[in-house]
Formats: sequence, C-alpha cells, structure tokens
Amino acid sequence: MPHTTDRFDVAIVGGGIAGLAVAWRAQRRGLRTVVLERDRLAHGATRVAAGMLAPISEARVGERGLLALSRASLDRYPGFVEELAAASQRDPGYSACGTLLVARDRDEAEALERELAERTALGLPVERLLPSEARRREPALAPTLRLALDIPGDHAIDPRALSAALAVAIERAGGALREGAAVARIVTADDGERVAGVELTDGAHVHADQVVVAAGAWVGALDGLPAHARVPVRPVKGQIMRLRDPAGAGLLARVIRMQPGYLVPRGDGRYILGATMEEQGFDTAPTAGGIFELLRDAIELVPGVAELQVEEVAAGLRPGTPDNAPVLGPGAVDGLQWAAGCFRHGILLAPIVADALAASLAGEPLPAVARPFGAERFASQREAVAS
Ligand SMILES: Cc1cc2nc3c(=O)[nH]c(=O)nc-3n(C[C@H](O)[C@H](O)[C@H](O)COP(=O)(O)OP(=O)(O)OC[C@H]3O[C@@H](n4cnc5c(N)ncnc54)[C@H](O)[C@@H]3O)c2cc1C
Repeated sequence: MPHTTDRFDVAIVGGGIAGLAVAWRAQRRGLRTVVLERDRLAHGATRVAAGMLAPISEARVGERGLLALSRASLDRYPGFVEELAAASQRDPGYSACGTLLVARDRDEAEALERELAERTALGLPVERLLPSEARRREPALAPTLRLALDIPGDHAIDPRALSAALAVAIERAGGALREGAAVARIVTADDGERVAGVELTDGAHVHADQVVVAAGAWVGALDGLPAHARVPVRPVKGQIMRLRDPAGAGLLARVIRMQPGYLVPRGDGRYILGATMEEQGFDTAPTAGGIFELLRDAIELVPGVAELQVEEVAAGLRPGTPDNAPVLGPGAVDGLQWAAGCFRHGILLAPIVADALAASLAGEPLPAVARPFGAERFASQREAVAS
C-alpha cells in the first residue's frame, strides 16, 4: 500500500542543473520545493558538461530564438553567480575567459570566414585574428594555425562547482533535496486534468500542486502522463576527458574551439577536452576511438596537451528534443511544468531556465524570450505518434 510522505508546492523530477537552478529560484519565491533525484545530485549530463557559456560561438543561422534565449541567459550569469555565491558561500566557478575559434587548414579557415560573416550579419561581437596575433594571445597554439576568431563575450563555468553551490543554496533557502528518490510516475487527479504529485519507485507518494519535469535524457521513462501531454526527448552521447597540468595553470587562458572539439581551461591547471556527438541510445561507455579523435585534434592544435595528465574519461547524455531546443514552462495538464531538452546548452541556459520556470510556477507568464519554447510546439508530433 503506497504511503504518503510529504506535501510541497513544487516537486521537481531530476536533480541536474535544470532541476537545481529552478528549485533555487522557486524556493526563493516562497514556494515550498523538493528536488527528487534518483541517483546523486548532478551526476547526469551536468557532471560531464564542459561548462562553456558560448552563445556567440554556437550561434546558428535560422536559430535566432535560441540565440536570443542563450544571450539572455549569459547576460544573467554574472548576477546569478554573484547571488549564488552570497547565498551558498561557495565559489560557483564562473570565468569571463573569452573564446577563440581556430582553423588548422584552408578548409577550416574558409569555414571560419563563413562563421565570421554570419556572426557579423547578426551583429555579434567577433574579432578576426591572423595566426601571429592569435598566438600572441594564446602562445600554446601550434604555429600551423591558419586563422582564428576572438569572441571575448563567450565565457565558461565549472558545472560541478555550480551545482554544488546550488545544492547548498537550495537547502539554506529551506528547499528539500532527496537523493536516491526515483520517480516512477506523475500522479494526476480530476480525470487526468491536473497533477497531484509523483509516485516514487518504492511506492511512496510526494504530493505537490505543481510538478516540474527536469529529468534530462530520461524524460520518456516517466509514466503517468497522458499521450497528449508528453514531450519527446532523446539522448545524445558526448565523450569528454578531464586533463591536468602538473605545472599548474598557464597553458591556455581562453576556451579554444576547433573543428569539431574544444578545450576549456578551468583556471587552475585543469582542462576539459570535449566532446563527441553520437546518437547511441542510452550508452555511456567511453570508447577508444572517441577519445583518440579528441586527443588527436587537440594535440595538433595545442601540442602541450600531450604533456597533460588524464584525470577522468567520461560520457554523458545530452537531452535533445526533435528541434534540439529546450522545452520550458506549462505543460498540457494543469500544474505540469517543463524544464527539459536543453541539449548542448543546459549549463548556459541555467539562469534563464530558472527565472522562466520560477515565474511560471508563481503563475506569471514566461519572459518573452522563453515563450517560443513551450511544450505546445510538439502537439502535432504527439498527435502523429498517437494516430
Ligand atoms: C559531453 C558534454 C558536454 C557538454 N558541454 C556543455 C557546455 O559546455 N555548455 C553547456 O551549456 N552545456 C553542455 N552540455 C549540455 C548539458 O550538460 C546539458 O544540457 C545539461 O546538463 C542538462 O541538464 P539536465 O538537468 O536537464 O539533465 P541532467 O544533468 O542529465 O540531469 C537529469 C537528472 O534527472 C535525474 N532523473 C532522471 N529520471 C529520473 C526519475 N525518474 N526520478 C528522479 N530523477 C531522475 C537523473 O538521474 C539526472 O540526475 C554538455 C553535455 C555533454 C554530454
């Protein structure tokens, strides 16, 4: 017989960056909030993420809505981390380090020229650098470098430090964090018209007026939602390495993005080398081929990488919707809210996702920049699947 455990205003399914950021902002609005995490907090994609905050590097023609959302989130970052540091007394690991996009050969240089033209047309601040100037700014780059773009506005953060700070801040604000609490299904009432909480896999019920789905790549495994209220999310595997310079910081000051990987300095002699993009279902095993390709490209561009020590090899699952854009705000059932599908940008989007969901949970409209990302855009796909 299931037993009642608790009653909250908001139950959040998933304790990754999305769930934690939303919980902090919701709790601070006075909503009694619980985060339900089946494993340990921030051990999904969030633990693996490089932490680039790079809307300009990632800007794609035809994705203006996502660019606006990403830039709105980056604009919020300095204030977000300042408040978070004060609330948690922890350093969230933010670095206004800037980013260099680099090309190794003629083909890549031509591609970079196109990227420059696209960004200039969008009015984005990007500086074209000849190899000599790029190597003056980042002396560890190989002399074979052909071209670089400097994007001083694209920054980085350590997602592990950020999530640890959020967890402390949530508890200090009075929110509840439950690890080892796997949600089996979302419980509805009034003939499925509104959510009433969740049921855990051990049969316990958590009552809540609103439920936020922030379950990363595992959204599809949640039972209880009628077909018309579901949102399709798939896992996209990314392999990554954590490297360490025994000599300390100094090899690189900026994020270096190449074709197709990147190196992200943490500022203390550690570097994140990423990442593959693979549609492999829920497989998270790092492979020799994946890691080889990452290292081969990085060492060609930054030969000093060969001297770094390997601290960790890992793979994570990015949560991708059919249009690879997030799904934010109210769902098709009363009290259902989405903070899911952040794909390659979940760390970057954390402040705007948190603010948008906190507003929505408090009964306010989503901020204008978040409105194109509602769950209703998948309605036709759900109908197609159902028919
Ligand atoms: C290799 C790699 C590099 C990346 N680099 C960057 C980057 O540089 N910048 C950037 O912005 N983004 C990056 N990302 C993307 C980013 O990691 C994700 O967008 C983000 O972490 C998604 O956060 P999330 O909270 O939605 O999912 P997750 O972090 O995966 O968290 C979901 C959580 O939900 C829990 N959960 C699932 N089902 C249940 C259930 N039924 N009950 C309870 N709990 C449940 C899981 O255990 C998990 O902890 C990267 C991703 C990868 C894989």
